[in-house]
Amino acid sequence: SNTNNDEVRLAEEASKKYGSPTIFSRVIDKTIPADIIYEDDKCLAFRDISPQAPVHFLVIPRDPIPKISEVKDDDAELLGHLLVVAKNVAKKEALHEGYRMVINDGKHGAQSVYHLHIHVLGGRQLNWPPG
Ligand code: IMP
Repeated sequence: SNTNNDEVRLAEEASKKYGSPTIFSRVIDKTIPADIIYEDDKCLAFRDISPQAPVHFLVIPRDPIPKISEVKDDDAELLGHLLVVAKNVAKKEALHEGYRMVINDGKHGAQSVYHLHIHVLGGRQLNWPPG
């Protein structure tokens, strides 16, 4: 669909600016509005601006790690924390019938924001495989 092609194009554009501060830095420092549903000293969860399901939020580390393929072995504890927070917020969002967590990486993963984020989608039946 056009929507999916737009996503791929957006991802290609973003990859050119790789390594510079992203829109998510501005969510973290609160210089742009965001619907933040959880935060602690290590991470934030906020609603995706273009939700692909009735519930669609992102969990991001405060540390601006660009992408999952670049995490260090030392990041294991932080990554575990992000997953546990994603699970806790999913529960708070009443996703009792299940949900999906997704991490897009790089061009082929159609990553469009180069600040690591876990997508959590739920509230409807999701299909598999993704496109
Ligand atoms: P990616 O394609 O995995 O990189 O996902 C980036 C996500 O960030 C997309 O689902 C966008 O809709 C979302 N997004 C981009 N800018 C904002 C924003 O300012 N607030 C909330 N979500 C955003």
